[in-house]
Amino acid sequence: MTKHAKKMTTNFGAPVPDDQNSITAGNPGPILMQDVHLLEKLAHFDRERIPERVVHAKGAGAYGDFEVLEDVSKYTKAKFLSEVGKRTEVFVRFSTVGGEKGSADSERDPRGFAMKFYTEDGNYDLVGNNTPIFFIRDPLKFPDFIHTQKRNPITNLKDADMFWDFLSLTPESIHQVTILFSDRGTPRTYRHMNGYSSHTFMWYNEKGEHYWVKYHFKTEQGIENFTRGEADHMKSADPDHATRDLFDAIEREDFPSWRLEMQIMTPEQALEYRFDPFDITKVWPHGDYEPITIGRMTLNRNPVNYFNEVEQSAFSPANFVPGIGPSPDKLLQGRLFSYHDTHRHRLGTNYHMLPVNAPKAAQVDNYQRDAFMNIAPGSGHPNYYPNTMGGAEPDPTAAEPALDVSGMIARQPYIHPNDDYVQAGDLYREVMTDSDRSNLIDNIVSHLSNAQKRLQMRQAALFFRADREYGSRVAQGLNLDVKEIESLASLEQEQLVEATKE
Ligand code: NDP
Repeated sequence: MTKHAKKMTTNFGAPVPDDQNSITAGNPGPILMQDVHLLEKLAHFDRERIPERVVHAKGAGAYGDFEVLEDVSKYTKAKFLSEVGKRTEVFVRFSTVGGEKGSADSERDPRGFAMKFYTEDGNYDLVGNNTPIFFIRDPLKFPDFIHTQKRNPITNLKDADMFWDFLSLTPESIHQVTILFSDRGTPRTYRHMNGYSSHTFMWYNEKGEHYWVKYHFKTEQGIENFTRGEADHMKSADPDHATRDLFDAIEREDFPSWRLEMQIMTPEQALEYRFDPFDITKVWPHGDYEPITIGRMTLNRNPVNYFNEVEQSAFSPANFVPGIGPSPDKLLQGRLFSYHDTHRHRLGTNYHMLPVNAPKAAQVDNYQRDAFMNIAPGSGHPNYYPNTMGGAEPDPTAAEPALDVSGMIARQPYIHPNDDYVQAGDLYREVMTDSDRSNLIDNIVSHLSNAQKRLQMRQAALFFRADREYGSRVAQGLNLDVKEIESLASLEQEQLVEATKE
């Protein structure tokens, strides 16, 4: 053994005498079955890869803490938010969405911004993105939407026709498409972007009074984006640049931080709001609900084992703690199911026992038992409830407030007086600078020009509906007839689809 070398063992702890030469009968000789170290090594290698996440496959993560800066106890009884100065350990995973595990960090894509707060009431996960909105509002559309970002099943190539066909048939996507094709679609690093809950959630206080809230984690490094040219260059210069940037910043103790700002709405205000407060394709304009700063999250510790801590980390929007609950947002309701389900497939039934996923400040105790890879210590009580054997009891004070709901049970199309285009138009006209708008048009034209002409026309008509200038500039960039796009834009959506069928 070389000086200071550690002892090599089998997976069962027995010393390995030689890791260079298999056991053979004679020299060179056939290898013998009795080389159990060789068999174990090969068999384990054969099983090294676990299923890749179907979305958010490429990611980077780090630990840190969240500190409360403002008293919010009148809105929520969540213990980790209960007093100014309180700190809670967090684990955060950033990611791209559509690309495979080996794809480039600088791809145009929303970025995942998933947070796990290890609170004394159990783990609270906030599984957000770097955009305050999303492409679709019904989870029934999610698998199709993602398929359009993946590879064509026939050619195994990314396919601009699939991408734009679906989006142009789904007008509620126009707001998110506008953010995605702005330079915010290619953040410079994970440190230089915001994180948003995107969904509306419920906060409730000790009295059971509830509020609707949105979370905005604002980067304290400042927003910085790549232009399309810079992002494209980075794909070849360093496809892992954002992963590297996060790790290196934390190693040199340049700890990234985000200020948590909240928008808070009462149930009465929600009833009268001009937008549907649960529609994930819309923001609550800051002028309507001014964000208030309530905390700061800082990342200050790198994982030591990427696979164990980042690849096996698993977040779910269904992980709530008392004081926080879901809203009627349809997409959120679908996600409450999907995340646990996909982790059970990817990591196994007991994925919550892996150290990165297990509560750190709370004890787990219930009557769920067994299954693959169970490492739970015995609870010391029976495996059924109710019992009179001293087993764990539910805590009624953890109940969410009751909400009144009524309506027809049916598959109902989304109907709301505000259309899908208003906020995309506001963003284009009122928020973007001239250079933001130019880059947006250029980014769209460069991608949409790869799609069939009829799809270009259909999508240009949607941009036109958001803003006349926006649609005209896209049409001009694609060498389409602006008058024709204007007349397509004036059609009902079904007529537009009919007119651009072939
Ligand atoms: P405000 O002028 O109060 O806020 C606009 C916000 O837009 C900024 O604070 C910033 O959000 C964000 N923003 C700035 N540049 C860009 C860009 N190039 N691409 C995407 N977002 C950008 O306006 P309103 O609140 O009335 O919203 C107007 C529009 O701004 C919305 O329709 C929406 O498209 C966009 N927006 C609004 C947000 C909100 O929660 N109200 C959040 C993000 C975007 P931030 O401070 O979060 O970086």
